[in-house]
This record gives sequence, structure tokens and C-alpha cells, in this order.
Amino acid sequence: MWSMILSLSRHDYNQMLIWAERAYPEECCGLIWVKKNKMNHVDKLELTKNIALNPLKHFEIDPKPLFDANRKSRVSDDKLIGVFHSHPNGRAVPSKLDASNVVLGQIWIIIANNSMRGWLSDENGEIYDRFNSIIINIVN
Ligand SMILES: [Zn+2]
Repeated sequence: MWSMILSLSRHDYNQMLIWAERAYPEECCGLIWVKKNKMNHVDKLELTKNIALNPLKHFEIDPKPLFDANRKSRVSDDKLIGVFHSHPNGRAVPSKLDASNVVLGQIWIIIANNSMRGWLSDENGEIYDRFNSIIINIVN
């Protein structure tokens, strides 16, 4: 099966593991940025506050940085392609709630067990009809 490949620097990969560990036992979350001319490579990660009522089980990105990010994505070469978050005691697979909250076309990275997996949301996805697995390629 065809699968999308997202490349990510070793530094950014390690950074997400560190953020997940620091937030433990709560979920950490943040935004994934690319450059317009290099849409398949993570250019920058932005850690945001998890404002969910129960951050032990859910995540919700702080609306203020999310609003600013959406605006910046519209007017600049920096493009917001999705979000990352951690599953402190779970697997790196989207939950049912993740599937009901995702915006179609977004790329999600889920961190669990000191590792991570990438997902692309799609109406005919293999997980809850919403997510297909993508390949994360770590580059230096
Ligand atoms: Zn989740």
C-alpha cells in the first residue's frame, strides 16, 4: 500500500520524547510546522499548553497559539500541517476521541512508550475511518 513519508530531524524526534516525558503523566501537545516548498519535512515543532479538563486522558491545544498559528499559516511560507501529542500510558495509535476531533487532511504524531508513530487523517482511514499510518523518516 502507498504510504506517505514525513521526514523529521533526530533533534526534533528527541525533543518530542523529552516533552512527553516532562508532561508525564499528562499528555503533552503541540503544533507541527513545515515550509511551503518542503511540505514533507518537519521544519519546526511548537509545544503548546494542554488545556483539556482532564490532561491525564485528553489533550486540547490552547486556542490562542492555535489561532495565531492558523493565521500565520495562511499568510506566510510557514505551514501548519498538524499536531503532535502523547499517550502517557497507551499506544501510539489514535483513540476514538482523537478520530472524532481531527480535521481531515491533518498529520498527527502520537508519542508513546518512548517512541512515536505518524498518522494522516483521511475519511477512509484504517483507524476509526479517520487515520492512516504514515512513515516517519528520521534524518540528521
Ligand atoms: Zn490521543
